[in-house]
Amino acid sequence: MTHPIRRSSAVKAVAAGAVVVLAATALPATPAVSSPAATASGTRPAQHVIMFDFDGFDPRFLNGRYADLAELPNLRALIEAGTYGVADGSYSSYSNSSRTTTATGAYPAVHRNTGYYYNHESDRGVSQERYIEPGVETIAHSLKRQDRTSAYLQWYAVQNYGATYGDPAALYTQPGGNCEARADQAIALLRGEPVNSGGTMVDPAAIPDLITVYCDDVDGALHDDGFSDPDLPAALARVDAQIGRVRDAAREAGILDRTAFLVTADHGAREWTIPLLPEVLDRLSGMGFKVQVISSSGGVPDPTSEIVIVASPRTADITLRGGADTAKNARRIAKLIRDIPGIAAVRDQQDLRRLNASDKLGDLVVEPVEPYHLSTLVDGAPRASHGALPEAQVPMVLSGAGVRRGVPLRNVGLVDVAATISALLGVQPPANSQGRVMRGAIKRS
Ligand SMILES: [Zn+2]
Repeated sequence: MTHPIRRSSAVKAVAAGAVVVLAATALPATPAVSSPAATASGTRPAQHVIMFDFDGFDPRFLNGRYADLAELPNLRALIEAGTYGVADGSYSSYSNSSRTTTATGAYPAVHRNTGYYYNHESDRGVSQERYIEPGVETIAHSLKRQDRTSAYLQWYAVQNYGATYGDPAALYTQPGGNCEARADQAIALLRGEPVNSGGTMVDPAAIPDLITVYCDDVDGALHDDGFSDPDLPAALARVDAQIGRVRDAAREAGILDRTAFLVTADHGAREWTIPLLPEVLDRLSGMGFKVQVISSSGGVPDPTSEIVIVASPRTADITLRGGADTAKNARRIAKLIRDIPGIAAVRDQQDLRRLNASDKLGDLVVEPVEPYHLSTLVDGAPRASHGALPEAQVPMVLSGAGVRRGVPLRNVGLVDVAATISALLGVQPPANSQGRVMRGAIKRS
């Protein structure tokens, strides 16, 4: 594995739902600060933070293979005035789980939002879920607790987890449309105008301390036709343009010199065309097991199935059941699948724990090499998806008030976003945050 997701602390989610942090042992490889201690109120480096979270924005749109698709002038201007790095996402790299990592500052092992797996309790396949382990705070909870205001424009990870429709102190809105409609609401808030929140016009008394803008234009194009999707360049240009519009509105509101910008994503993407699932199924059946692939949208396995698979393009989640559920079988199956050409990795329980993955994933998670896939859809059309480790890489841009210029971001992850925004605003991070302040990039106040 070339870039394991950083392990910053040993954390155990206990059965009762409470989360116990056992120890905070920072990896020696990152001599950064381990405590996200906040500056005292009144001396915060930034008065406002505006975050753009662009679903599926692969870091290679900025540097490398796909950098020619769009110029991205506004994003590059933020980087020029601030700082940039490629950050780790979380595992597995599905949107809701990854965005919940951003919102809580905790790994999936703690928040337990999980994607594309077989849920034992409901006995069903799950694609994605809105779930956060009880007691785990989001940044919406923690800001409100500390009397700071925030607005989350389609940033759904905090909906009903700290932010709600109609709450002017921690406002959730769902304008729909494309990135422009989301930015329109950010601009309205900066102008002191009311915004539609679940059908009610809400007028926050002042510009919120934190505004997050979620856009899925890029992810949608990637899923449709991969990196050669004809709409992808326009989607990239559109999300980039919204940064410029919102920045202009912050200037007009007179707060630009007191505003920090953070731009990131939930995951990147990889392309897929060539099926590998039939080969996986052949090998498993050849071992004598009764194997069943269930739909990720609520599929129920036959009670007699010994191996249940939730198959998606970039991961296959494998659960052993009944008499087949032994450590020895897991080892045998992992070895057999690893030998298939086109398989990149078979992650066992040890790997998954090391990645701080959710315990709700199966016994094994299989990942293919690009452009192979583990989906049941076999039409050979080029598409892109995510879920595996290589695409758990995202751009991280910090710029504006309180941000030091030109200090490259290294060893940072989505897990650090909540702590970093909190430090910029001079407050404590969410209670269960395991991340660290991207301190090298932040000015001391
Ligand atoms: Zn996606």
